[in-house]
Amino acid sequence: MRIGHGYDAHRFCEPSDNRPLVLGGVHIPHDRGLLAHSDGDALIHALCDAILGALALGDIGRHFPDTDAAYKNADSAILLERVVSLMTDRGWSIANADMTILAQAPKMAPHILAMRTRLAQLLTVDVDAVNVKASTTEGMGFVGRGEGLETYAVVLLGR
Ligand code: MG
Repeated sequence: MRIGHGYDAHRFCEPSDNRPLVLGGVHIPHDRGLLAHSDGDALIHALCDAILGALALGDIGRHFPDTDAAYKNADSAILLERVVSLMTDRGWSIANADMTILAQAPKMAPHILAMRTRLAQLLTVDVDAVNVKASTTEGMGFVGRGEGLETYAVVLLGR
């Protein structure tokens, strides 16, 4: 078995930037998206880092540098598919993945099942091997002030 942990945080754009909010490969209705070189899917980024961590392959920035124009506005689902290939090439598969989103807004609950379903598809596992949960920080810190959101992911890999 291998265990891996991932973390990410992104700042919210201004509403006038008209950036969509994408988390876990799902478009979430909100008045602001996340500032990023890619599509800003912080949940997928944390998940990629957790898998890369379990494989001792560094981090997402090493594999997909934000200085590379190829990843501008990139669909993070494609990055996750590449990370999953690195994993399967080495004979590993996902036993389970558990993720947490910290955001003051919007409410994530209506979108959790869609995120789990999409991530399970990308990880090629059953949806019951993928958990996504969300919390506010009760107004504390940068998340509580609505400046951005943060994400955590833990994965267990098996042979
Ligand atoms: Mg990121």
